[in-house]
Amino acid sequence: MRKNRGFKLRSTVNALVLITVVATVVIISLVAFQNEKKSLIRLTYQLNEVYVNKIAETTNSIFHNMTQGLAITGRYLASDLSRTDLHFQLMLFQQSNAFFNITFIVDKEGNLVDASDLSSLRRGQKMKSAGVEQALKEKRALVSEPYVNPLSKNLVVMVSAPLQDNSGRYIGFIGGTIRLHETNIFQTVLGSVPNEADGSYAYVVSSEGILLYHPDPKRIGERVARNPIVAKIAAGERGSGSLSLVNSNDIEMLASYAMIEKAGWGIVAQTPAESVLQSARRLIMAIITYMLPVLLLFVVVITLLVRRLSEPLVKLTDFASMLSPTNSGTDELPKIHGFNYEANELHKAFGRAVRHFRYQFDSLSQEAQTDPLTGLFNRRTMDKFIGSWITGGNPFSLLVLDMDHFKSVNDTYGHDVGDEVLKFLATSLRQLLKEDNVICRFGGEEFIVLVPDERFDSALEAAERIRKYMAETDGPTGGKVTLSIGAAHYPGFASNAEQLFRVADEALYRAKHQGRNRVEIALAANEVAATN
Ligand code: GH3
Ligand code: MG
Ligand code: MG
Repeated sequence: MRKNRGFKLRSTVNALVLITVVATVVIISLVAFQNEKKSLIRLTYQLNEVYVNKIAETTNSIFHNMTQGLAITGRYLASDLSRTDLHFQLMLFQQSNAFFNITFIVDKEGNLVDASDLSSLRRGQKMKSAGVEQALKEKRALVSEPYVNPLSKNLVVMVSAPLQDNSGRYIGFIGGTIRLHETNIFQTVLGSVPNEADGSYAYVVSSEGILLYHPDPKRIGERVARNPIVAKIAAGERGSGSLSLVNSNDIEMLASYAMIEKAGWGIVAQTPAESVLQSARRLIMAIITYMLPVLLLFVVVITLLVRRLSEPLVKLTDFASMLSPTNSGTDELPKIHGFNYEANELHKAFGRAVRHFRYQFDSLSQEAQTDPLTGLFNRRTMDKFIGSWITGGNPFSLLVLDMDHFKSVNDTYGHDVGDEVLKFLATSLRQLLKEDNVICRFGGEEFIVLVPDERFDSALEAAERIRKYMAETDGPTGGKVTLSIGAAHYPGFASNAEQLFRVADEALYRAKHQGRNRVEIALAANEVAATN
C-alpha cells in the first residue's frame, strides 16, 4: 500500500533508549573489567614480589650463615686435621645446625678426611661428585649447582668453605650437603605462598634451570627450559621483577622473581592469571547485578513517558491516515489529554484544519451530488446508487416521472413559475416517499424515483400516490400540473440498468400516449423484444 512509511516515533525512541542502556552497561562493564584486571594484576605482582624478595633475603642470609659457620668451624679444625675428635666435631657441627644432612672435610686431592656420618663413607676414599670437583676447582666459599650424589643417588647441593693450613696454603675444604628431596631449609623458608587458595605457588630454580624446590616433589631436579625467568637467571641478571609467562601445563601465570645472589638461584612466585580474571569477572557481575534493576526501571519509566508523550501524536496520525478524498473524517477528532505543549498546539491546529477540510468537502460533495434547483440527487448520484445496488444484488423499482405539457406551463406563466413548479414537485416527492427512496432530477422536467424493495407493488403504490397528489393539488400556477409515470422493477423486468431504463421509458411513452396523468407498468425486457 503505502511505501516508505518511516519508523514510528515510539519504537524509534524506545529502541534508542534500549540501545543506550545496553551500550552503557557494556561500556561500563568493559572499562570496569579492564581497570579491575589491571589493578588486580598490579596487586598480584606487588604481593608476589614482596614475598619473593623477602624469601630471597632470608635465604641469602641463611647461606651466609652456612658458609660463615663452615668457615669458622673449618678454621678451627684445619689447624690440626689429624686430631682425634675430628669426627666428633663434624658430627657436633652437623647436629648443631639443622641445615645439612651431612658435613665432611675433603683434602685438596679430593680424598675424604672425615665426615659427620661414616655409615656409607670411608675415610680416605676418593670423592667424585660434581660438588667436590667444583669446590676443589674454585677454592672459595660456594653453593654448588645441584647434582646427584653418585653414592646415595640423592639430588643434593653442597655448601662449602675452603680450608687453609697455618701458613695459609689451601689444603681442601669443609662442606655440607642438603638433600633436595628431603625436608630441607627451602621448604621451611618458602612455607606458604600468599594467595595459595587461588592456585599460587613458589619454586626455586638454579642458574642452570634445574628445579631445586617445587610444591610438586616429583618435579624437583627437573630442567625447565622454556621459562623466561630461568633465562634471566642464566644470563646472570640481579634484583627482582615481574612478568607474565605460560607454565609447563600451558597455564598463563603472573610471575614475580627475585635472585638469591649467594647461590645464583632464582625464586619465583606465580599466580594463575585466570584467578585474577575471575575476580574481575565477579566484580563485573556485581556491577551488572546492581545496575540492571535500576536501568530496567529507567527503561520502563522512559517507555511509559514516551507512550504518554507520543499518544497524542499516534492518535492524530491514526485519525489523519483515515482522512481521504472519499472520507471527510466523519469520526470525531480524537480527544487528547496531552501534557506536551507541542502536541496540544498540534491538536488544536489539526482540529481547525479538519473542520475547514470537512466544510469544504461537505459543500463540494453536496454540489457534486445534487441538483442546484431542487436539492434532489442528480443523475450521476442516481447512477451510483443503481450501480451499487445491481452489483450488490439488491432488488429495486424504477419510476420515471415526466410533467405533462410542461412547455405550456412555461409558456403561460413564465420560466420562473416553471421552476417553482419543479421545486413544488420535488418537495411533494420528499413528503410522499419513504426515507430510503432515492429521488433524483434526471433532467429538465423529468424525475426518477428508486424504491429499494423486493416487491414491485410498493413502488406502484408510491407512483399512484404521487400521481394522485399532483392531480389533486394546486401548485405554484394556482392549478394542477399532472404527471405521467413509467414503472419497472429490477431484476423483475430487466437484467441490467440500460434495459431497465429502456423498458421504463417505453412505459412512460405509453402513459403519455394514452392520455397522460397515468402510471404505466413496463413490459419485461424479453417481452418487449418479442413484440418488436
Ligand atoms: P409532454 O411531456 O407532456 O409530452 O409535454 P411537454 O411540454 O412536457 O414536452 P417536453 O417534455 O418536450 O418539454 C419539456 C419542457 O420543459 C421544455 C423546456 O422548456 C422545459 N424545461 C426543461 N427544463 C426546465 C427548467 O429547468 N425550468 C423550466 N422552467 N422549464 C424547463
Ligand atoms: Mg419531458
Ligand atoms: Mg413533459
